[in-house]
Amino acid sequence: MKLLLVEDEALLRHHLSTRFGEVGHVVDAVASAEEGLLQAQHFNHDIAIIDLGLPGMGGLDLIRQLRNMGQTFPILILTARGNWQDKVEGLTSGADDYVVKPFQFEELEARLNALVRRSSGFVQAQIRTGRLVLDLNRRQASVAEQPVPLTAFEYRILEYLMRHHQQVVAKERLIEQLYPDDDERDLNVIEVLVGRLRRKLEAAGESQLIETVRGQGYLFTGHCQ
Ligand code: CA
Repeated sequence: MKLLLVEDEALLRHHLSTRFGEVGHVVDAVASAEEGLLQAQHFNHDIAIIDLGLPGMGGLDLIRQLRNMGQTFPILILTARGNWQDKVEGLTSGADDYVVKPFQFEELEARLNALVRRSSGFVQAQIRTGRLVLDLNRRQASVAEQPVPLTAFEYRILEYLMRHHQQVVAKERLIEQLYPDDDERDLNVIEVLVGRLRRKLEAAGESQLIETVRGQGYLFTGHCQ
């Protein structure tokens, strides 16, 4: 997943970026609401984590602006202990959930995963289509209960395509799931990875799930639930 993190405390921002990176997410981490707004305008995030106490424009204003812009990704707020007005205001402004500081990384991660799952219409920690099952907690794919050996990048692409099944997904969007900045972006990488992913799924007995839509991107044709 691609996350937008807006947190002015440098240490916490760094810690969260590192931890989320370790569990396979791409993080755009910024220190102010203004930068957060810019990031959200230029990239496609799956979720935003926003600290409410920010210098300059506050977290609540950022959330309102994002929603006014029509931004629909889930928003999780970070708030100080005991400040219940903040939580209420945050949720009223358009946030979906909150985590109170100080928190354990595991709690934040669990809430984040649950939010993203619900926002893409899946209630369980699994996405399935026919015999293909994606276990979102273990980050593993299997066909007829046999694990499909995917690399971390292949898994991320498959998860993104399955979350957005029946939609054409541009290569640019897939590459955002793999690398945090523009410099490393090379669309050929996506073609190679999708090719490998198709071969591995085929070897497991699932073919023609990922269609190429010429000039546009890829379409996951299975009906996922
Ligand atoms: Ca703060």
